[in-house]
Amino acid sequence: MAERYAVAVHEGKVDAVPGKDKNKRAALPNASKYNPRFVSPINSPSWEWRDNTQFLQVTTGCSHNGCRYCTFFKNVQYGKVPLDEVEFYLRYIALCDKVIPVKRVFLQASNAFHLSYDELMEIAELVHKRLPNLETIGSYGRMSDLRDKSVEQLRSLHDAGYSQLFFGVESADDNLLSLMNKGYDSAELYEAGAKLKESGIPWACTIMFGLGGHGYGFDHAVKTAEFFNAVQPNIVGGVSMTLAYDPYMKMVPPLFHAVERGEFVEAGEIERFEEMREFIRHLDAETLFLSRHSTMPVGFAALIPEKKEELIAAITKVIDEGDEEGMRKFRESVTEV
Ligand code: SF4
Repeated sequence: MAERYAVAVHEGKVDAVPGKDKNKRAALPNASKYNPRFVSPINSPSWEWRDNTQFLQVTTGCSHNGCRYCTFFKNVQYGKVPLDEVEFYLRYIALCDKVIPVKRVFLQASNAFHLSYDELMEIAELVHKRLPNLETIGSYGRMSDLRDKSVEQLRSLHDAGYSQLFFGVESADDNLLSLMNKGYDSAELYEAGAKLKESGIPWACTIMFGLGGHGYGFDHAVKTAEFFNAVQPNIVGGVSMTLAYDPYMKMVPPLFHAVERGEFVEAGEIERFEEMREFIRHLDAETLFLSRHSTMPVGFAALIPEKKEELIAAITKVIDEGDEEGMRKFRESVTEV
């Protein structure tokens, strides 16, 4: 793994992101990001788009649906999919399993981990019953979804197959958590992160660069790095705030209107890489930093701490030589975040 993730750089284009090769996926069951089996576009980290992974809708929408930079589920009601309907989807996935063995199921939609411990265990039982080749179950979650789950329960969920869960942390800076209406504060983040760490369940999370807007400074970078150092996620994804028009929801994020009114000034492109460099300077968790995302004009993959200095040098090169205007145009062209 260390060799594979020596500092790798990719220069942005959505189609260059691993797992987003639309031609390759054209013949596969989950080929379309908008699939009639789902009430909203499939939502997952790009690395989940593998031949042996299937998406299973167990919830709809987002239980919070309030972050100011987000459009994802704005027109979709949060709800739990009835178990008989989940079983119906599973019968379809069981057919896929006969063509390409299904090793992993990634639950939909925004934060399926909001379901209770008992509900998640019931789903685990169902998927194992239908999919004999299944190894793990993944899901997005909000850190607040840990409120009703104990460390013991997280261990049991891990034993039942839940692994490599993904939490969109975005920041551990209270000013920004409040400004963006994330629905939790840093104290809750530390409490939830400590549970994940103690349970031993592998988990990934994100930091969103540019979240504080132009001139905010490095508090966001430093506080978020300190949080990750304390709770040790095994993957940290770097994304960059992009207030793009969402063709599925047919809207822009609420924050876009604040920009139009002059109430929020977006961070510059080089400024975002300066923030990223500050974040990496303070990041000491043993983790994989991965910023190959559709919102990144230049993406990186590097193991921390082994490749930290190389990564800082690569980011510095972008800061020194990057084309602000070109990268801004790239951001304006982003249609999927
Ligand atoms: S960013 Fe995530 S938690 Fe926030 S509203 Fe969007 S989907 Fe929900």
